[in-house]
Amino acid sequence: MKDISTMAKSKVITGETVELKIEIDQETCIGCGTCSVIAPDSFELDKNFKSCLKSPIKDNKKTILEAAQSCAVDAIKVIDNRSGKQLWPES
Ligand code: SF4
Repeated sequence: MKDISTMAKSKVITGETVELKIEIDQETCIGCGTCSVIAPDSFELDKNFKSCLKSPIKDNKKTILEAAQSCAVDAIKVIDNRSGKQLWPES
């Protein structure tokens, strides 16, 4: 039986830096932890072993993109705040 408090929570975690908007699809995340190793000042695993965002997000753009690109299941979306262009996954 599922925990009702978990079911009520959003499955997409969002956060922003000056340059980027970041979205994590927790339904897709398999909890491998790679993003939190590459960008430990931005990503961490929550108590359900799903990736979430730290506040504030402190890694630079290059590191955040590397973390997103390292995700084997493309659970992390990165959007450029100025242009609105999706940087990852490439569309
Ligand atoms: S790299 Fe992807 S699958 Fe692994 S914890 Fe991060 S978001 Fe989840």
